[in-house]
Amino acid sequence: MTVADDAAAQVLAGLDPEQRAAVTAPAGPVCILAGAGTGKTRAITRRIAYRVVSGEIDPRRILAVTFTARAAGQLRERLAQLGADGVQARTFHAAGLRQLRYFAPRLLAGRQMPELVDSKARLVTLAAARASLRADRTTARDLASEIEWAKANLVEPGEYAAAAVKAQREPPFEAAKVGEVFTAYEELKRARGLIDFEDMLRAAVWGIEEHPDVAEQIRSQYRHFVVDEYQDVNPLQQRLLDAWLGGRRDLTVVGDASQTIYSFTGASATYLVDFPRRFRDAVVVRLVRDYRSTPQVVTLANNVISQARGGEARLRVALQGQRPPGPEPDLRIFSDEPAEAAAVAARCRELVAAGTPAREIAVLFRTNAQSQAYEEALAEVGVPAVVTGAARFFERPEVRQATMALRAAAKSPPVPDEPLPAQVTEALVATGWQPDAPPGGGAARERWEALAALVTLAEEVASSSLADFCAELARREAIQHTPTVEGVTLASLHSAKGLEWDAVFLVGLAEGTLPTTYARTDEAVEEERRLLYVGITRARQWLWLSYGQSRSPGGRARRPCRFLPQLAGSAAASDSGDPAQRRAARRRNQVVACRVCGATLFAGADRKLGRCPDCPSDRDEELYERLREWRRVVAGEQHVPAYVVFTDATMAALAERSPQTVAELSAIGGIGPRKIEQYGEAVIALVAGASVAQVTNLPPPQ
Ligand code: ATP
Ligand code: MG
Repeated sequence: MTVADDAAAQVLAGLDPEQRAAVTAPAGPVCILAGAGTGKTRAITRRIAYRVVSGEIDPRRILAVTFTARAAGQLRERLAQLGADGVQARTFHAAGLRQLRYFAPRLLAGRQMPELVDSKARLVTLAAARASLRADRTTARDLASEIEWAKANLVEPGEYAAAAVKAQREPPFEAAKVGEVFTAYEELKRARGLIDFEDMLRAAVWGIEEHPDVAEQIRSQYRHFVVDEYQDVNPLQQRLLDAWLGGRRDLTVVGDASQTIYSFTGASATYLVDFPRRFRDAVVVRLVRDYRSTPQVVTLANNVISQARGGEARLRVALQGQRPPGPEPDLRIFSDEPAEAAAVAARCRELVAAGTPAREIAVLFRTNAQSQAYEEALAEVGVPAVVTGAARFFERPEVRQATMALRAAAKSPPVPDEPLPAQVTEALVATGWQPDAPPGGGAARERWEALAALVTLAEEVASSSLADFCAELARREAIQHTPTVEGVTLASLHSAKGLEWDAVFLVGLAEGTLPTTYARTDEAVEEERRLLYVGITRARQWLWLSYGQSRSPGGRARRPCRFLPQLAGSAAASDSGDPAQRRAARRRNQVVACRVCGATLFAGADRKLGRCPDCPSDRDEELYERLREWRRVVAGEQHVPAYVVFTDATMAALAERSPQTVAELSAIGGIGPRKIEQYGEAVIALVAGASVAQVTNLPPPQ
């Protein structure tokens, strides 16, 4: 046996006969149509590795396209482990952007590559005004979705109205009016010299279709193509794929029609389903053994998807669980969302205490707005959390802007002895970021966190200068090594596709949230069902499904998610009997009024602070600095991120309210019995004037 044979045999180890057939299929079209957790991603990874290590193909000639930057990173990592380095694994966007940057000098005849639109919603609001429409945030978002859908379907502004009617879209205004907004949006964008993500893909397509030399270079660079999650490809991405292929046929696609969850943005499972018709000689492989989840999880998943209707449902298969039995899924109803979040956090703490690493746990929800309640509840019980959206980290507009600002700052002479994190913070402040003022939640919070992660990274890496740090960022961007924090993953169901965790919490499973109220057509409702299916099939061992009857205590009761009749049948309001949890939930539920103007406060961060964000602050700056120094020391000692000790909102509240007793301390939202036990004494001493060294184990300064 040669070395290559030996390596190839190793790559084939641990595959079932069907997977093996897909892996060893000869060059040419291959299609794996299979359910969740059946090893599709494993099969494509092995197929690439098999062909590389057996010497059939050159790894640099492969382009593998996956759905998220995180999945692409995982793919590269696994390939490297299997002995196949150097394969390009990217998202469509990242591949398109890279191609465009490379060819920009040729395609743009010396002109600058346009900047990416950083806030589509803002531009859409302006465009709506031009069409004499007033768009609030939700409407602007809906209009932006329509524009994205149209562009993903290669529909031009003038064609929008007819196409929208045909596709039974439900735009927020009359279709003709939305067409006008679309036209205005394109004009505004052009006038400002900007492009959006869809333009970028279009430009990548156009670069190949209109420029034979570009086409030739790309096609000689890439000869073998692989697409994961192919059920969610949209017509624009398919066109790019066709442009890359240029009629060649070395293409492997894998997908599961039952996991189509992006059709609202224009994706369509028909490319996957029709693949065997498009390539009559394709090797088609079907997989049904589920290697990921326990039979208990698999049974629930099968049950949910067996009710599916519509085109995507035709191909569904019943999964066969291969793993040893595990616990039954935990179905819970709580009286309200805060009680639900507290119970989920308590269960996460139990799992971590029993040895499950926090990174093997995920809390998944329908909308990003649901994240904050869980961030706070987990912080309260001292379990670290990571909010995703960390996927595509380097593609986030604010991160791009920050990187540019850092590069610019790196060019000016450094202030002697200024530590790197301080230099990074300063450069970010110049872009408008405020280190001490994280906004309450949602997209603004995510943007803030992304920049905070850059500062944390500056604290972690051993860069000696800002220029070094910029080089480190570029290196990480090239390999998509996004900054990470150990913690429970908080993510939307959409961003969880393809991933898996030991324990998965599917929360907020109430009518109106899942399915969302925006799902008005039968197709949209079916997509919501598939979203639940994707969520369930992420769990290896423990699965928890829950909802809070009302959003806030005493609020209007909602019905449980219609796709889970089992949930309605589970014990009524299973609020935990744990008195500490009940107290925590009660505290969250109290009406809190601004101590400056008396207005009722709703946002978590404002409630903690005890005043409206724009009411005047009476913060003791000196105390605040001491508290921050103390938090830094404590977080360092405990090897946790600073916010696990106290979030920035809690820190701000402490400095403003200077609690002198345990009672005053516990009146601050976000400080529960556990925090009081751990840190109460130190905080009260700091408020009374103690130095950081006095309340920590540090030796006093010389
Ligand atoms: P999804 O539809 O969610 O993307 P998938 O079909 O891509 O799932 P994978 O992620 O490839 O599934 O595999 C699911 C899990 O099962 C992984 O942990 C993988 O390592 C494991 N697995 C796959 N095939 C086998 C096998 N033949 N033997 C043992 N474990 C396997
Ligand atoms: Mg997969």
